[in-house]
Amino acid sequence: MTLLLKAENLSRVYPSGEGQVTALRPFTHTFAPGMTAVVGPSGSGKSTLLNLLAGFDTPTAGRVVVGDTDLHRLTESGRADFRLAHYGFVFQSHNLVAILSAQENVEFPLMLAGVPPRERRDRARALLAQVGLEKRTGHMPAQLSGGEAQRVALARALVGEPGVLLADEPTGNLDTKTGNEVLELLLAPAKAGRTVVLITHDAEVAARADYTLRVRDGEVREETRVRV
Ligand code: ADP
Repeated sequence: MTLLLKAENLSRVYPSGEGQVTALRPFTHTFAPGMTAVVGPSGSGKSTLLNLLAGFDTPTAGRVVVGDTDLHRLTESGRADFRLAHYGFVFQSHNLVAILSAQENVEFPLMLAGVPPRERRDRARALLAQVGLEKRTGHMPAQLSGGEAQRVALARALVGEPGVLLADEPTGNLDTKTGNEVLELLLAPAKAGRTVVLITHDAEVAARADYTLRVRDGEVREETRVRV
């Protein structure tokens, strides 16, 4: 399902010693369906932005609106349920549960969402096949290569068919070829109308996105660029 993700006058100031750090200056933006790359130097505010969009962090001012929902008006548990229903996450490190197989890891969010076992199993299998891991369903995370583990993490992020997919350096730990494969798998939902927001340091990855936001000293600017 396509869901519009909006940041409205969103800002975040952190207390720091005697003073404060403005991690994100007031910022208004509608994340269009497709892939938005968030780029900028270390410490510029990229993670702050992603954490606010996810509802992991609370804005100092402004709102995050997803579809018709003001994310920070929900209760903590309401937000957790909302995330489960509408968000998928991919991080630099795959964050798979070590004692669960690939299949079980992908089923996990569906289990939390109360999807019946057989449907869970079928959907997880289909997603693992989609990321090319149909032969690895019973493997434990420790038995998988970095790229395979990241593909399992991607299958887990996508299995709930989220409208919003947030990714923090998902290709950062991978070699170029494997990174490109993971990027292709993130571009597919973006092309299908999901909203994918991806932090990346990799200019080649950013070049594949539909939109770029450049963050500098907490200021977010939309970058216009001509497609070649
Ligand atoms: P990036 O992801 O671009 O590396 P961050 O969003 O992590 O940047 O950080 C932006 C700024 O906010 C930095 O100056 C950082 O030190 C500060 N910052 C981030 N998180 C916190 C926090 N929890 N408390 C205090 N300052 C923070």
